[in-house]
Amino acid sequence: MKKVAIVGGGLAGLTCAFMLQRKGIANVVFESSAGAGGRCAAATYLLGREPYSNTFGLIESLGLSRAVIEIPPVAGQFYKGHVYRHRVSSATGLLRFKGLNIADKALLSRMAYLLVRYGSKLDFHRPEAGVDLDDESVATFVKRELSQNILNYVAGPLISTLFFYGSEETSKLLYLNLANYMHNTRISTLRGGLRALTHALAGKVRVDGETPVTRIVADGPGYLVNDRAFSHVVFALPGNAVLSIRGVKEMLSVEDVAFFEGCRYGRAVSISLETEEVLDRCYGVAVPRVEKSRVATVVHHGFFDPADRRVTIIGGGDDVSVEDLLKDARRIYPRIQAGQSGHEWPVAMPKFPPGRFREISGFLNRKRRSGLLFCGDYLMGPFVEAAVTTALKASEGV
Ligand SMILES: Cc1cc2nc3c(=O)[nH]c(=O)nc-3n(C[C@H](O)[C@H](O)[C@H](O)COP(=O)(O)OP(=O)(O)OC[C@H]3O[C@@H](n4cnc5c(N)ncnc54)[C@H](O)[C@@H]3O)c2cc1C
Repeated sequence: MKKVAIVGGGLAGLTCAFMLQRKGIANVVFESSAGAGGRCAAATYLLGREPYSNTFGLIESLGLSRAVIEIPPVAGQFYKGHVYRHRVSSATGLLRFKGLNIADKALLSRMAYLLVRYGSKLDFHRPEAGVDLDDESVATFVKRELSQNILNYVAGPLISTLFFYGSEETSKLLYLNLANYMHNTRISTLRGGLRALTHALAGKVRVDGETPVTRIVADGPGYLVNDRAFSHVVFALPGNAVLSIRGVKEMLSVEDVAFFEGCRYGRAVSISLETEEVLDRCYGVAVPRVEKSRVATVVHHGFFDPADRRVTIIGGGDDVSVEDLLKDARRIYPRIQAGQSGHEWPVAMPKFPPGRFREISGFLNRKRRSGLLFCGDYLMGPFVEAAVTTALKASEGV
């Protein structure tokens, strides 16, 4: 009889458990923290029903459809000391943005042409389909095909405000897959934040909290996980933590070990605080890196949810501190007070440098010991849809 150990109680692990339970397959989620949910506690926005189709399917299955809040796709952009608003990534919105000059604006139609040209290789749910485009960074690509200003004020902020790391360390394939949807995106959120998803899931599946998995060994055709017997193991923890579990390295090929050794994550710090006002009908402010600020993004999620009137300030980088964030956030919201405590995300977002999607494709196509399955955002892209999509695939593989 099948009995599945799921290692990690973030969105991927909980989704996998939920799907297995619906199929009547016994499973236990092992979570090292006291509470399940992982990084979903920080996640705020859903980027449209089409790219996030599996997440919306899950929302429906959990009976949370009425908690969805649609948000006008109007973003703020910090430029030379002021915040400008425009429809997010829409060509017409960008035509009014002062950070782009006339020559840059004329180049925006070239971006539309490039998306059509590469369209057949762009599949948000299967980035492996575009491995040919996984050959250079967003920074090199946009500077060559478009302009430095478009990199500074359009492409760069898309990467740094969504993922808190730089366009020079990110594959153009990730950017093209996002840009393909962003021209017409519909942003939404869930009342209470996306953590509402993991709360609902955790209430429906069995989670053993405060139970880090420290050892997994083969036991005949099955596995011993912390000395308990299972037929299958689903790894739903960050990719850079897989090899820290004793016994795992011995069960994987040299190629798979190299794949996990190559998993890199960016660090981020976030502060959530109450403030008296935000820019009207604007879901957040992007702060381009060229503005020399530690803040990458200010998220206005709380102001779309009447029960939760807060802003969240997020910055990424190895040395960003709460103090740095507050100091820079005052350029946008001068009345923000000192003395706020922040949250550090040492493993915030998986990085996808050029060549990483090719490695992911190799990993997904390789055969390995039966009963070992993997899911998590590091296998598709740094967003909740990736955690959900890879979890659905893992549950189908059991
Ligand atoms: C600040 C921030 C903002 C974000 N905003 C958005 C957003 O607006 N929209 C969006 O789509 N995405 C957003 N994301 C990304 C999104 O949160 C993640 O992609 C998603 O939650 C990843 O889920 P996961 O299950 O793959 O990983 P995780 O959430 O990291 O889950 C892994 C779990 O494994 C557990 N674990 C680790 N080691 C062990 C072990 N040995 N034994 C047992 N358990 C273990 C961990 O405690 C954790 O709970 C954001 C992320 C951050 C950090």
